[in-house]
Amino acid sequence: MSIFSHHEYDQHENVLFCHDPISGLKAIIAIHNTELGPALGGCRMWPYATDDDALYDVLRLSRGMTYKSALAGLPLGGGKSVIIGDPHQDKSPELFMAMAEFINRLGGCYISAEDAGTSVEDLKIMAQTTNHVVGIAPKKDLQGNIKSGDPSPMTAYGVYVGLSTSARYYLDRSDLEGLRVAIQGLGHVGYRLAEYLHKAGAKLWVTDIQSEQVERAQDELNAIAVEPDAIYSQTVDVFAPCALGAVLNDRTIPLLKASVIAGAANNQLQDELHGDKLRHHGILYAPDYVINAGGIIDVAHERTGYDHLQVKQHVEGIGDTLLEIFQRADSEQASTNSVANQMAEERFRSCPIKPQKLAS
Ligand code: NAD
Repeated sequence: MSIFSHHEYDQHENVLFCHDPISGLKAIIAIHNTELGPALGGCRMWPYATDDDALYDVLRLSRGMTYKSALAGLPLGGGKSVIIGDPHQDKSPELFMAMAEFINRLGGCYISAEDAGTSVEDLKIMAQTTNHVVGIAPKKDLQGNIKSGDPSPMTAYGVYVGLSTSARYYLDRSDLEGLRVAIQGLGHVGYRLAEYLHKAGAKLWVTDIQSEQVERAQDELNAIAVEPDAIYSQTVDVFAPCALGAVLNDRTIPLLKASVIAGAANNQLQDELHGDKLRHHGILYAPDYVINAGGIIDVAHERTGYDHLQVKQHVEGIGDTLLEIFQRADSEQASTNSVANQMAEERFRSCPIKPQKLAS
């Protein structure tokens, strides 16, 4: 397994391979960049087929967090961790406490949160051993309800703000009344997005592989149900991917009738070049890691005292960031994803790595 010459290495500051024979923990913590602050990123638990697969995933994800936090205006860098194991079989309190010990050894350079395969409960176990965990504090949401951890309501709100900005910019829409939106995936984020859009007067076309969610949207939001693979070709103004990655690819892009893509899913472009393809087809793409940053903004605020109005305002800044990206992409005749990457790099690559940060 190569490390420094790894295809995804991309100037990572630190990669820690963690092994605790007593609990059986095998994990990797990757810190991509701490120029703007400590690296925050979730702890994923997954039964990776090989150690190489785990390394590939953690490097790719941690780099992505650097870009996301930089454009979300957070004083944070990018990192991620993966525990190699089956979340349905291999969890134990000892495993998560051992993981927390390794996080402690990094002295606050890496802060963990929930991710695929881990839960708020797992993170609470880690929090008994380390302070460097977020996404577990009880806090009030926008409706005044107390909740713990779950960042998806703020993610959904951020996507709604970003979708509205995209429609204003590209479709000259002052409001969303009658806007036609196709939503792929009605999970934690997608369903809440659908609720916001319905309330704003948008007309919805929805799909999910779980029929109960689709039926609920039909009943509650007057949505039109479509089969999963038919969602791409609906005659709509906006396509909102809120389920899977890599859904914008050579097969799907020619099918799209939407003029705007604005959704929550991570890694929507199968390849960065698909951003150019969208531009070529006259479709405005709201870069995924910019529009779906509401969740990281939400958990990051836990570190400084959670005030839901402040968080809401911060999340609303996603609209301004997107506007800047769209305007710059137009003036530079470039894809929105390449402009977003450039803007993020301008923020976190402004100075060389400061060694004292690693020691703090
Ligand atoms: P979720 O698991 O709650 O919802 C995903 C939904 O997509 C599920 O209802 C699932 O049945 C559906 N789905 C899966 N495959 C599908 C298919 N082929 N066609 C249609 N529907 C399908 O996840 P979520 O928390 O709502 O997140 C949605 C996306 O947003 C994910 O890509 C996630 O990585 C990303 N995201 C989420 C957050 C967050 O705060 N939850 C933050 C940033 C990014």
